[in-house]
Amino acid sequence: MIVQLRYNWAVSDIYLYNSLTRKKEKLEALRQTQGKPEVGMYTCGPTVYNYQHIGNFRTMTLSDILRRTLIFNSYKVKFVRNITDIDDKTIKGAADAKMELAEFTKKYTQIFFEDLKELNILPADVDTKATDYIEEMIDYNKALVEKGLAYVENDGSVYFDISKFTNYGKLSRIKKRQLQTGTRILSDEYAKEDVQDFALWKSVKPDEFGYESPWGRGRPGWHIECSVMSQKNLGDTFDIHVGGIDLLFPHHENEIAQSEGKTGKEFVNYFVHGEFLLVDGAKMSKSLKNFYTVSDIEKQGFDPLALRYFYLTGHYRNILNFTWESLESAQNALTRLKAQMVELKNATRSQLSKEKLEKVKKYQNEFLVAVNDDLNTPQALAVLWEVLKSNIPSEDKYDLVLSFDEVLGLNLAKVSQVSQVMQVPQEVQKLVDEREKLRKAGKFEESDLVREHLEEMGYAVEDTVHGPKVKKL
Ligand code: AMP
Ligand code: ZN
Repeated sequence: MIVQLRYNWAVSDIYLYNSLTRKKEKLEALRQTQGKPEVGMYTCGPTVYNYQHIGNFRTMTLSDILRRTLIFNSYKVKFVRNITDIDDKTIKGAADAKMELAEFTKKYTQIFFEDLKELNILPADVDTKATDYIEEMIDYNKALVEKGLAYVENDGSVYFDISKFTNYGKLSRIKKRQLQTGTRILSDEYAKEDVQDFALWKSVKPDEFGYESPWGRGRPGWHIECSVMSQKNLGDTFDIHVGGIDLLFPHHENEIAQSEGKTGKEFVNYFVHGEFLLVDGAKMSKSLKNFYTVSDIEKQGFDPLALRYFYLTGHYRNILNFTWESLESAQNALTRLKAQMVELKNATRSQLSKEKLEKVKKYQNEFLVAVNDDLNTPQALAVLWEVLKSNIPSEDKYDLVLSFDEVLGLNLAKVSQVSQVMQVPQEVQKLVDEREKLRKAGKFEESDLVREHLEEMGYAVEDTVHGPKVKKL
C-alpha cells in the first residue's frame, strides 16, 4: 500500500548496474501490462543446511529493496525466490545429523522464513524449492543431451560440455584459453581456476539419496536447479536475476550456459550482484566465531530492523563491514526515527504554503532519484533525515517519510499506529511518573531529560488528555 500523498511523484527512470555489461543501464522491462511495465525477477535463495547468517540476509535485503523500488515506480513485479534443498551440503548435513533430507532442510527453511519476516522482507510471489522440480530438471537435462550440449558418463552422471556453448564466459569474462574442456567437475562449487565441464546430474550409489532417471539413480547438480525454477516460473527470458557476488562464477555463468544453450534465447537481461558483508573486516566463518544470525542480533537486545537499517547505510555494490558498534549506531538512528514518527503522527493537517509545497516536491524527487540510481540507499536515508530536519509541516514530513518507507521497509507505519496496552517495566513506570511530576511543577528541562532517558531505554512518552501514555519504540 502506497501512502496517499497530497501531491504526485515525478516519474523517473530506473538505472541498475548490470553485471553482464559492467555498466549502469536504464531498466527496460520486457513486458507491459495495462500500460504498466512488468518485470520478472529471480533471486538465488539459501542453501538450507544451516542457519542463514547476516551476510546472506544482506543479499536477501538487496533483492527486497530492488523489488520495493520497482513497485514504488508502479512496476508490476513477479518475484521468485528459491530454496536449494538438495545439493552436496544439504545431503551431507542431513547424513551427519542422521535425519531424512526433507526433515533436515524443513527445519532451516522455516527458520529462514521467520528471519525474513523479522527483517520485514516481503514474501515472494513464488517460493520454489528444488526437490519440487526434479521431473522438470530431468527433462531439461534430456533436452541438453539431445542438443549435443551435454554428455553422459559411464557412471550415469551427465555433464554440460562448455566447449559446445560458444558464449561460455559472457558474464564472468573468463577467457576462452582458460577453459579446460573435457575435464569435469562433479562438486557443486568450484574456484575460478577450474573452468570445466560441470555436472547437470550426478549418479549416486544405491545407499545414497537420489531419484530414478533415464541415466540411473542420481540427483541434480546445483546450477540446473536455478535455470529450471526461474524459467518455469518466469519464462525462457526474464528481466532481473539477483544474487551475492560469489555466485557470479561459476553459478550464474553455468545457469546462462544451460539456459541459453537449451533455448537459443537470452536468459536474463540484467544480472544484479550484491557485495559481501564482512564481520570485523573478515569473512564470516564458524571457526573465527564471527558467524552471526538474526537471532544472535536479537539476543544482544537489538531490533532486527536495526540490522536492516545498517544494511541500508551502505551501497549494495560496496563491501559493508559489520561491527557491534555500527549496529548500535544503526539502532540509535532507528530509535530516533521511530520516536519522531510517533510525534509527527499526531500533528493536525494544515494548508501547505506554495514555498513549502515546492520543498516537498524537491524531497520527493531527491528520494526517487537516489533509489532509482542503482538503489542508492545511503543517499535515500540522507534525504529522509533532511526531511525530518526541514521546516515543512509535520504532517507532510510524516507522509513523506512513510512513503519513503515503502522502499526502505523499516516498518514505520506500524510504529506510529501502536496504541496497544502493554506491560511497562516498573523502572520505566517510575521514570514516567517522575517526569509527570516534574512537568506539573513546570520543570520542563528536567522532565525532558527524563524523557530522553526513557527514549534511550526504548520507550516514548506521549502526553494525552488522560495523562502520559507510554509506547515501546
Ligand atoms: P548460500 O546459502 O551460501 O547459497 O547463500 C545465499 C545467498 O547469500 C547467495 O546469494 C550468496 O551469494 C549470499 N551470501 C553468502 N554469503 C554472503 C555474505 N557474506 N555477504 C553477502 N551475501 C552473502
Ligand atoms: Zn541460483
